[in-house]
Amino acid sequence: MAENLNPFENMIKQVDKVAGMLKMDKNLVACLKAPKKTVIASLPVKMDDGSVQVFEAYRVLHSDAMGPGKGGVRFHQNVNLDEVKALSGWMTWKCAIAGIPYGGAKGGVTVDPTKLSESELERLSRRYVYAMIEELGHEKDIPAPDVNTNGQIMGWMVDTYCQLKGTSQRGSFTGKPINLGGSLGRPEATGRGVRFAAEVAAKNMGLEMKGARLIVQGFGNVGSITAKLMVKECGCKLIGVSDVFGAIYDENGLDIDKLLELAAKERTIKNYVGGKKMSNEEILEKECDILVPAALENVITGKNANNIKTKLLVEAANGPTTPDADKILSDKGVVLVPDVLANAGGVIVSYFEWVQNMDHYYWTEEKVNNELREKMFHNAQAVIDMAKKHKTDLRNAGYMIAMERVADVIKIRGIFP
Ligand code: GLU
Repeated sequence: MAENLNPFENMIKQVDKVAGMLKMDKNLVACLKAPKKTVIASLPVKMDDGSVQVFEAYRVLHSDAMGPGKGGVRFHQNVNLDEVKALSGWMTWKCAIAGIPYGGAKGGVTVDPTKLSESELERLSRRYVYAMIEELGHEKDIPAPDVNTNGQIMGWMVDTYCQLKGTSQRGSFTGKPINLGGSLGRPEATGRGVRFAAEVAAKNMGLEMKGARLIVQGFGNVGSITAKLMVKECGCKLIGVSDVFGAIYDENGLDIDKLLELAAKERTIKNYVGGKKMSNEEILEKECDILVPAALENVITGKNANNIKTKLLVEAANGPTTPDADKILSDKGVVLVPDVLANAGGVIVSYFEWVQNMDHYYWTEEKVNNELREKMFHNAQAVIDMAKKHKTDLRNAGYMIAMERVADVIKIRGIFP
């Protein structure tokens, strides 16, 4: 039977599995699975040539039991409703494990943003907020950057929100540019969090970070910062990287500064001089100590999981590993740090940004990074301890913590009306 690659159905499968392990009440499980609200909108956008293109847009609030919805907005040609539903659910579990007072939400637009001019991108971003205005707000649902969105896009979005609502509430969006109420450390936060999660996991399994052979799949914001920090701060040896155009491999180590320079200048690393060029599929199967998928969903599946030769796999992307692959990797003894733990650094610093916005009092970068480190270390250790206690893997353990926390609050709040 062909493997199911629907991310929402796979997320539900994971929730059902853990609900069974926890012997959770089936009424509560039903509440945990169903997204609270789904909005689909058509966004007509005036193109530079005078034509109008209509893009499909989504915002899904999976749960607001723990607090306002929180989660990014993704611009990608493959965005679809089930992907956004899965991503919104992952945000609920991620925020619950992180111990930050948010529910889970996510948004997306089905668009290839590389085909848009800067002004088309601005009109699309503003139109998204216009369409979703009733769903959003600093106490309701707070968007942030995700795949192909960034600080500038958050800037246009928060401006549109404030103009339409007649408010100056900057905490209605996070991941904003610093001058517009963004937090120091937010652009690097997801990658920095991945580095901390990797460090805790490596220590627990007796893997030395210094000299560990590292492969990072994806060289966008998250992949590039993760690679940089794991090389410069942990002493890992980066032997493989990839982006949408392909991969580069060098068992003697790649030059991270050159890669970062290329990514900044050319928005791709394909012109890196040196190393061996290979496909995105091949690089995942190269032998290494730490493998970090940092791009999109479903890259490690039942098809290639058997060929993965790493000791530690840290999910910087959301949903890169399917349930079939999970089982194969766990049977092989690969330690897998799940997305809902590993990539929480972004939303944790988004939380710090929101707190700073509401306090109108701003933190130093050192304070942001220290508080992030403390939270990531604490949360990673809690998930590892839970896994030991229940003799299970880190994904199941993370879901156990998250689902118990959210279910408890649903129980206390009750069903209304
Ligand atoms: N898009 C990021 C994620 O998937 C960050 C979300 C946020 O900061 O709200 O976790």
